[in-house]
Amino acid sequence: MDLSNRIQGLTGGGSDGWDVFYKARRMIGAGVSVTELTQGEHDIRTDQSILDAMYRSASGGNTGYATVPGTNSMRDAVAARLTARTGVHTTRDNVLVTPGGQSALFASHHAVCDEGDVALYCDPYYATYPGTLRGVGAIPRAVPCLPENAFQPTFSDIAEKSAGAKSLLVNTPNNPTGVVYSRETVEGIARACREYDMWCISDEVYDTQVWDGTHISPRTLDGMAERTLVVGSMSKSHAMTGSRIGWIVAPEDVVENLFNLATHTTYGVPGYIQDAAVFALGEGLALEEKVAEPFRRRRAIGQNILAEQNVVGLVPSEGAMYMMLDVRSTGLSGEDFADKLLDAHHIAVMPGESFGASAAGHVRVAMTVEDSAFEASLKTLVGFAKELQP
Ligand code: PMP
Repeated sequence: MDLSNRIQGLTGGGSDGWDVFYKARRMIGAGVSVTELTQGEHDIRTDQSILDAMYRSASGGNTGYATVPGTNSMRDAVAARLTARTGVHTTRDNVLVTPGGQSALFASHHAVCDEGDVALYCDPYYATYPGTLRGVGAIPRAVPCLPENAFQPTFSDIAEKSAGAKSLLVNTPNNPTGVVYSRETVEGIARACREYDMWCISDEVYDTQVWDGTHISPRTLDGMAERTLVVGSMSKSHAMTGSRIGWIVAPEDVVENLFNLATHTTYGVPGYIQDAAVFALGEGLALEEKVAEPFRRRRAIGQNILAEQNVVGLVPSEGAMYMMLDVRSTGLSGEDFADKLLDAHHIAVMPGESFGASAAGHVRVAMTVEDSAFEASLKTLVGFAKELQP
C-alpha cells in the first residue's frame, strides 16, 4: 500500500548536513563522552513553582478536555502579554493556544496556504521549516539571507522571490543565526508583505532572549496586524519544552478558522498545562530573565573568547541560545569542520549547511552546557580552527 506523496515527501530527502549530529549520537550511545552543543534545549529544568502549579491544577481535577481554542485564562494571559510587549491591542479572540510553537507553525501555514501555493522562508532557517511548509501542501521557496548582511533579509532579497508567493515565514530573534532583526529589516519584511500581498508568519519563540537591540514584531508595523500570524511558545521563554504549549496570535477571523482546524487535529492542549503556563506568565519578567540568564552569561563568555583572535568570525550574537561562527578561513565547509572537530575533540556543533545553503562555511554552537564546559569547548574550537589554517 502506498502512503501519500505528501508524507513521503515531507523531509525532502537527503541528510541535509545532519550526519554530524547523528554521528555524535552514535558516539554517545557507544559510551564516548561528547560535549553536545547541538540542540536548542536548556540545561535547566522547568521551574519547580511551575510544576507545582501544574500539579495543583491536575490534582484539583482539571484533567478533562479543555476548551479547544484554549482556556479563557490562558488566552487572556497571552493577549495581555502581547499587548504589553508590543502595544498592539490584543484580546482572547486573537489567540489560539496550541501544543507548542511547532504545531502553531503548521496550523498557521495550513490556514493561509492552499495546495500548491508558494510559501517563502528565510535561509538560514530553523530545521523544520521546509518540511512544515511541504506538510500543508505548500511549495517552500527559500529567500537567501547573506552572511554579508549578517543574515538579515533585505527588502530586495524578499522581493526577488515574492512573485506569486502566498506567505513569508520570518524568525526573530533567529535560530540558527542568533541575529535579532533590525527595524530596517522588519520594515522591509512588512513592505514586501504589503506590496506582494503576502501573509506574514512571524516566529517569535525567542522573544525573551535578546542580548543586544530590541525585538520588533512585524505585527506592530502599519497594515501588518491584519496579515500577520505570530507564533509564540513557552518552550524557550520558560524552559517548558516538554510541556508542549504555544500559541498563534492572529486576526479574529483567522483564529475562528484555526479553532476548526484544532477541533479536527489536536483537540486542544491539556488544561493543567495551560494553568501552569498561566501561572508562569503571571510571574512576569523575573522568571523569564532567570531562564534567559545562563545564555546571556555564556554569550558574554563566547564574545570574549572570540574577541581575542581573528580566525573564527562571530555573526553578531544578539539573541536566542546560539552563536553562529564563521569558519570559512579554515578552507573547510561547516560540515567538514564540524566532523573533524567531533573526531578530534569530541565536541559536537551543527554545520551551518544543515540550516540552508546561506550558512555554508559556518557552524552553530548552542550555548546549552554549563559555563566552564562551554568556555573550554569554545577555546578548543578556536584553537582547532587555528591549526587548520591553510
Ligand atoms: N521555532 C524555532 C525558531 C525554534 O527554534 C523552535 C524549537 N527549537 C520552534 C519554533 C518550536 O518550538 P516548540 O514547538 O517547542 O514551541
